[in-house]
Amino acid sequence: MKYIDEYRDGRLAKDIARQIAALADPGRSYHFMEFCGGHTHAISRYGLEDLLPANVRMIHGPGCPVCVLPIGRIDAAIALAMRPEITLCTYGDLMRVPGSNGSSLLKAKAAGADIRMVYSTLDALRIAEAELEREVVFFAIGFETTTPPTALALKAAIAKGLGNFSIFCNHVLTPAAIQNILESPDVRKLGTIKIDGFVGPAHVSTVIGTEPYEFFAGEFQKPVVVAGFEPLDVIQAILMLVRQVNDGRHEVENQYIRAVTALGNEKAQAEVANFFELRESFEWRGLGEVPYGALRLRPQYVAYDAEKRFSMVTPAAKDNPACACGAILRGVRRPTDCKLFGTVCTPDTPMGSCMVSSEGACAAHWTYGRFRERARQVDVGRAVA
Ligand code: SF4
Repeated sequence: MKYIDEYRDGRLAKDIARQIAALADPGRSYHFMEFCGGHTHAISRYGLEDLLPANVRMIHGPGCPVCVLPIGRIDAAIALAMRPEITLCTYGDLMRVPGSNGSSLLKAKAAGADIRMVYSTLDALRIAEAELEREVVFFAIGFETTTPPTALALKAAIAKGLGNFSIFCNHVLTPAAIQNILESPDVRKLGTIKIDGFVGPAHVSTVIGTEPYEFFAGEFQKPVVVAGFEPLDVIQAILMLVRQVNDGRHEVENQYIRAVTALGNEKAQAEVANFFELRESFEWRGLGEVPYGALRLRPQYVAYDAEKRFSMVTPAAKDNPACACGAILRGVRRPTDCKLFGTVCTPDTPMGSCMVSSEGACAAHWTYGRFRERARQVDVGRAVA
């Protein structure tokens, strides 16, 4: 497969791994957080951790948009969808995220709510156009990557004069969350882990560029290497981080030069800025309230803001106390530390958000990691015997 195989070359990956092993100082440890769920998926899928020396550890961050949505927002969406005049349009993964008391959008749909799975914002727009008698609400989630399509849907709805279309906005912002992980007293209270640097997100950075990371690389003295999604991208980014740590540097570097520039996609940024403004605070699952960590519609678009239009309330809701998603999203615990992992919680029966999307740390580990772990245990057993 041209342009893909080149980035999945096992021989090259092993060569880079050898360089990492040669550079990693045995007298210290290296903790790098990959913020992006796509990177978590790639690390699990291609077994990259197995290539790293024991003192270079990857920490899964809160970079899966489905995982970080707090349970109260799911409850609010379910309550809205139960109203007879509402058609709620949502992405497939969100349907299965557990809400309070074992609820989910999927169960609400089974109970009669008009909830429809869509693949894009434009699908939701088409439903609104075709069914003018319905109030069609798009349940918008995601990082900076998915916000421009929501802005364009809104633009199209306004241009078409669609008065029955609105947005339940849950778009969140990456740099604010990274900053929060590094400095928030809430996060410190909940538990933190040593972080020596970040593998910066791929898709998000195609939109925002590398510049927004400069502030906290300088302020918090943590190196950042923006990386692509393929295994060679990620392992090369780890090598670049090890080099920075060894040199005592804390710079923003760009491994993903084939897609990411310093300034990003300014056209997409302008579309987003036209329709959205910062929320002073927004709750992230696992991180608590993140100052300026999310977007809402600008006041002039209040008619398209489902929260205002339908007087939605976000109930205070607590996660299942047995579920460790919160700690996993901060990198403090690993999926296998959760006693529900692989017993009652699997991708078919998710008890927490991290098991729902393929980018969630628990789902990634369930799908790929546990087999390697089992193989490792068998190898160790053989060696002992
Ligand atoms: S295994 Fe399931 S219950 Fe445990 S942290 Fe992961 S998603 Fe939550």
